[in-house]
Amino acid sequence: MDHKPYESWLVADEALLPDQESSLQAHLKTCEDCRNLQASLQEVEALFEQRFFFQPQPGFTERWQMRLTEKLIGEREKQQLRSTWMFLFTTTGSAFLVLIILSIRFFSTLQNPTEAFISGMTLIAGILNLTETIQKTVFPLIDVLILSVPTIWWFYIVLGASLLTLVLTIPIVRTLRTRRVSL
Ligand SMILES: [Zn+2]
Repeated sequence: MDHKPYESWLVADEALLPDQESSLQAHLKTCEDCRNLQASLQEVEALFEQRFFFQPQPGFTERWQMRLTEKLIGEREKQQLRSTWMFLFTTTGSAFLVLIILSIRFFSTLQNPTEAFISGMTLIAGILNLTETIQKTVFPLIDVLILSVPTIWWFYIVLGASLLTLVLTIPIVRTLRTRRVSL
C-alpha cells in the first residue's frame, strides 16, 4: 500500500483541503500503519501541550537539552567502545589461532631444531608483516569510519577482517609446509 500522500498529510502543519481530508479519513479506515502513525503523532502533540501547560522551570529546556546531548555522546562512546572491543577481540582471536598453528608446527618439528627455528622465524616474520599491514591500512581507516559507520556495518567489517586474516594465514602455513618438505 502506498502511504506517501497520507503520511505527509498526517505530519503537515497546515490544514488539509476538504477532499484531502476525506481521502485521508478513508485511508485511515483501511490502513493500520497510518492509524498508528496518527496515534503516535497525537501522543507527541499531547506531550507538547502538557509541557506548555506546566510551565517549565527556568533553564529546564537547557538542562533537558544538555542531558539529551550527554546521553547521545554517551551512547556514541559506548558504541565506539563496543566496536573497538569487537575488533580487538577478532584480531586477538585470529592472532591466537596463528599462535596455535605456530605451536603445533613447532612441536611437530622439534625432532629437527634448525628446521623448527626457521619455520618459527618465517611464521613470526609473516605475522609481523601482517600486523604491520593491518596497522598501516586498517587503523587509520577505523579512526575515520568509527564516527560514520552504523553498528551493523561494523559486524560485516569485523567479519571480513577476520576472514581476511584467516585467508592470509593459510598461505603462511602452506609455505611452511612446502619449506619443511624441501629442507
Ligand atoms: Zn497507510
